[in-house]
Amino acid sequence: IKKSMWAGKSNILVCVRVRPLWEREGRSTVEVVDGKVVVCRDPGRAASDVLRKGRSRERQYAFDHAFGPEVPTARIYAQTTAFLLDGVMSGYNATVLAYGATGSGKTFTMLGTTESPGIMLQTLKELYERVSAAGPVARRPGAGSSGGGRAGGAAAAAPTMDVKVTLSYVEIYNENIRDLLAGGDDYLDLREDPVRGPQVAGVAEFSVDSPAEVMELLATGNRNRTQEATAANKESSRSHAVLQIVVEQKELGGDQVRIGKLTMLDLAGSERASNTQNRGIRLREGANINRSLLALGNVINALGSARKGSYIPYRDSKLTRLLKDSLGGNCRTVMIAAISPAARSFEETLNTLKYADRAKKI
Ligand code: ADP
Ligand code: MG
Repeated sequence: IKKSMWAGKSNILVCVRVRPLWEREGRSTVEVVDGKVVVCRDPGRAASDVLRKGRSRERQYAFDHAFGPEVPTARIYAQTTAFLLDGVMSGYNATVLAYGATGSGKTFTMLGTTESPGIMLQTLKELYERVSAAGPVARRPGAGSSGGGRAGGAAAAAPTMDVKVTLSYVEIYNENIRDLLAGGDDYLDLREDPVRGPQVAGVAEFSVDSPAEVMELLATGNRNRTQEATAANKESSRSHAVLQIVVEQKELGGDQVRIGKLTMLDLAGSERASNTQNRGIRLREGANINRSLLALGNVINALGSARKGSYIPYRDSKLTRLLKDSLGGNCRTVMIAAISPAARSFEETLNTLKYADRAKKI
């Protein structure tokens, strides 16, 4: 695959991925044109109705990339997330987030399957290759820092750096943080470290020893995610899964440390709580999920419209507090908006396209 430059117009790259249409889902409501445009047609609006009212059934949205159902995850990785690694190795933070309704392909994209490994695994594999090829000590100057462009004055890794890659995987469910790798049901606190930024206190950190182990680790973590049946979706996922990869480079015999952090998010389903006829506790869960998603949307909007130095409401939810040093500023963000082409998902598909469209302005 040919490597091209970062396609984001600014520090955010926004793309859409359309999952395949399943049997019995009828006709597709969306079409990808030129790898950048999503055309969607309202299935509820008859052609005759359109003629009578002079309104169009079609809407178009343009993104940095639009990936149709035939595009494999490996290509999506190569055209989006792969460009973040140079920055992370140079000490910058970055975020990849999968947004969309339940059943639209978020987990397939981020975690994936054994046959089709997701972006999380592909990222860790490439990081592992880079670090082990260079050796823990004898990193060639300049290794892994070509392209990217944004690193600017950041020097290439000196040959006297010790590189360590660690990962942690937590979920935010009902505004509580749980460790997906350590197991157990304890809630973890979020603390602010002046050097390392927001930290999940006591979270289990694993070092990346081999990509095969990582897939097993992530799959186990995903089985620990809170999944609950609701009226709308049997396997509605109401939790946000947060994978954080920290690349720490220490100067041997010195005290210079360079830390870059890559956060990868498989967000809770974006469908509205109103769609699921829930009561009591479930409703409260829905409200809290909306709170984190709402807060994320508000942060994204504020970053998009902000003049320099204006207020960004990071503190409004656990999710945005955790992302405080990973969104905005000189961090890069990849948003993958997952959509379903099925007629019955049209409303959510449109909502997701609008959300992604607003995010382009960061
Ligand atoms: P979400 O996490 O957004 O709720 P999933 O990732 O679980 O959705 O996707 C729903 C179903 O569709 C899963 O069975 C998944 O394997 C399948 N799926 C999603 N996207 C694709 C794709 N691009 N190709 C093949 N199967 C997919
Ligand atoms: Mg999921």
